[in-house]
Amino acid sequence: MSKLKNKVAVITGGNSGIGFGIAAAFRNEGAVGTITGRNEATLASAVDALGTGFIGIKGDVTAMNDLENIFQKTTEKFGNIDTLVVNAGGVVDGFPMAAVNDVTEENYDRYMDLNLKSAYFTVQKSLPYLNDGASIILIGSSAAHRAIPGMTIYSAAKAAIISLAKGLSLDLLSRKIRVNTLSPGSIDTPIFEKVVPQELLEQVKQTWIDTTPVGRQGLPADIGNAAVFLASDDSAFIVGTEILSDGGLTNIS
Ligand code: NDP
Repeated sequence: MSKLKNKVAVITGGNSGIGFGIAAAFRNEGAVGTITGRNEATLASAVDALGTGFIGIKGDVTAMNDLENIFQKTTEKFGNIDTLVVNAGGVVDGFPMAAVNDVTEENYDRYMDLNLKSAYFTVQKSLPYLNDGASIILIGSSAAHRAIPGMTIYSAAKAAIISLAKGLSLDLLSRKIRVNTLSPGSIDTPIFEKVVPQELLEQVKQTWIDTTPVGRQGLPADIGNAAVFLASDDSAFIVGTEILSDGGLTNIS
């Protein structure tokens, strides 16, 4: 129960879904640290639910000043950082994913900014505050491997995350910082409410259950458990690679 005892973690987007699941799994293993998000209300209730050891710092991961503030404030409170989980991402507010002819340049840019550019700069801005030997976990997606209609830009951004982890792990080798991608399959989180009309929600979730070989959607805790492994010394020899936690989804055509 203490694989991460006294380790300091930053989890972007820790106020919802997968990010919260990761924060809860880290807390259960003895970690402390910061969760982030833009929504102050959900941030406050997530911090309350985690109990002692975690603080919330408001920030937009597409804003460089906000990223710097997150790492500076975390270090002031806890000291240097051992684990960074780059999780914030997914659906861009006000820009539902779209069929190919409906994708505007702004839509394209906003998806790339949120799901790829922000990941790179979250890592870059964290570097002065990370301990040597730190673990960085980039949250990818099974969508990088298995096309989903209307989600091409998102999927391409997530595919690039895998490449980012490979490159960064070499770039950061001199500091023994490991960078890996953790790619979830279909996980039951509020993300579905952002893209699927309410009346179709249950049907869409059922389709994912039927499509996933293990016969269920994943839970945020499933991703949390895999993230604990990647954050801990148990994965010390795992560098620049991708772990899929998808219930077998990407094994089927
Ligand atoms: P949620 O919508 O529940 O969570 C998204 C999180 O990202 C929230 O905490 C949100 O906080 C934060 N966020 C979004 N935009 C910004 C921004 N501009 N700045 C800062 N924070 C932001 O979705 P999930 O938990 O499902 O998704 C988490 C990650 O997992 C995403 O990267 C997603 O792509 C990935 N993923 C999810 C899958 C799934 O099936 N659920 C499958 C594969 C990958 P706030 O709104 O307060 O800013």
